[in-house]
Amino acid sequence: MLHLILAALLLAQSAKDVASGPLREDSDATTEDWITRVLNYMESNPETLEELMTEDYAVTEGDIMLSSDRNAVDSVWPSTRIPFTISPESESRTWSILSAMAMVSRHTCVSFHRRTSETNYLTFVMSKGCASFVGCIGGEQPVFVGPQCTRGNIVHEILHALGFDHEHTRSDRDQYVTVLHRNIMEGKERNFQKAKGQTFGLEYNAASIMHYGGEFFSDNGLPTIVSKEEVMNMGQRKKMTDSDVQRVRLLYSCVASGPLREDSDATTEDWITRVLNYMESNPETLEELMTEDYAVTEGDIMLSSDRNAVDSVWPSTRIPFTISPESESRTWGILSAMAMVSRHTCVSFHRRTSETNYLTFVMSKGCASFVGCIGGEQPVFVGPQCTRGNIVHEILHALGFDHEHTRSDRDQYVTVLHRNIMEGKERNFQKAKGQTFGLEYNAASIMHYGGEFFSDNGLPTIVSKEEVMNMGQRKKMTDSDVQRVRLLYSCGTL
Ligand SMILES: [Zn+2]
Ligand SMILES: [Zn+2]
Repeated sequence: MLHLILAALLLAQSAKDVASGPLREDSDATTEDWITRVLNYMESNPETLEELMTEDYAVTEGDIMLSSDRNAVDSVWPSTRIPFTISPESESRTWSILSAMAMVSRHTCVSFHRRTSETNYLTFVMSKGCASFVGCIGGEQPVFVGPQCTRGNIVHEILHALGFDHEHTRSDRDQYVTVLHRNIMEGKERNFQKAKGQTFGLEYNAASIMHYGGEFFSDNGLPTIVSKEEVMNMGQRKKMTDSDVQRVRLLYSCVASGPLREDSDATTEDWITRVLNYMESNPETLEELMTEDYAVTEGDIMLSSDRNAVDSVWPSTRIPFTISPESESRTWGILSAMAMVSRHTCVSFHRRTSETNYLTFVMSKGCASFVGCIGGEQPVFVGPQCTRGNIVHEILHALGFDHEHTRSDRDQYVTVLHRNIMEGKERNFQKAKGQTFGLEYNAASIMHYGGEFFSDNGLPTIVSKEEVMNMGQRKKMTDSDVQRVRLLYSCGTL
């Protein structure tokens, strides 16, 4: 039966899904053009704010000339174990900061740990943009993390702090890219000046997380940097390239120089490992962790604030979908998740042809979805760790279902232990209004959180009052999960 469904779904796939690109970044026609352009620019290029805010900082802290010092400083940290603190007002960014540090430490011998009494350390502080000194400057060293700075932006700043300049300022860059000085904002030409620096004999890497994007500091929307060879990801802030990893290893004399290790680094502080393990074993909790980044990258969508507000049932039980090219490797996971939903209900899924409202499965860091039909192209986020069960969970969100543990009557069945919940994540445990169809509370629902979701300390965040074997399970839809889909979509008896 399952095979038949999958075969049918595959047959329905006639053409490639052309219209499955990223969300819109188009400007608002009603707003003054230039204001919109500035806003879009700031939101899509938060790092360029490192310069825009530099002046302010130099003023606020008159003894530090951030801009003039930056390229002069070239100090390697005295140890590969870097102490850090996070300032109180940046605590809400803790997870992005930790996961940025984890990205660096995972593949290199550089590790990060909370400062106790060390003299030289990084302090992550709130700011308008993302910014950093280059190299170890001694003492308390700020790394600026504005609201728009994504995990990748923070990695970029940490690499500055470790001693790395921008890749496009390499002295041999003219062999690889053309800098179009006529398009550069007045006063920002120096950001494109070549700098002396150790290249370790590594090839120029236009896809480096330390390379500017093609339109950074453009005055007119035209390119400021063009690569001579075709480069897919110039200016990307998603991940460290092999070359980025190699240069950290070489600068800090890490022993391993082979391919990227996927295992966590034993030399890394325990708590970083715990974070990584946590993220990998609870991919769904990344729906929240990635929200901030997503809201930034695609500034027109406030995922977190929209999620619980939307409550629309799809107009038909036949739901069109597309799978974005970069998610094609997850096709079987996605199809079998849809099969689990359609098998027991009257809701079915088919490849989109020209329908207005449809789901698009897109690549992401975690698993995430809007709640209900939001209209138009509606993304469902499927990260590498999302299992079939996680995808079913997200599809049920998309069909209109909230988390079971947010039912208004939940306190009769479970106890929420607020003291163990991560700071800033309390709202994931807030009760929500919603139709329960008179069905019993179901702690084993595929829509219920597990006992330690968003735990700050490893202790439970939700405890069931009755014994429940499978709270937080993501294996299958329970009878109750099936019933509520049938009721919401008026399936009748099957
Ligand atoms: Zn930079
Ligand atoms: Zn969920």
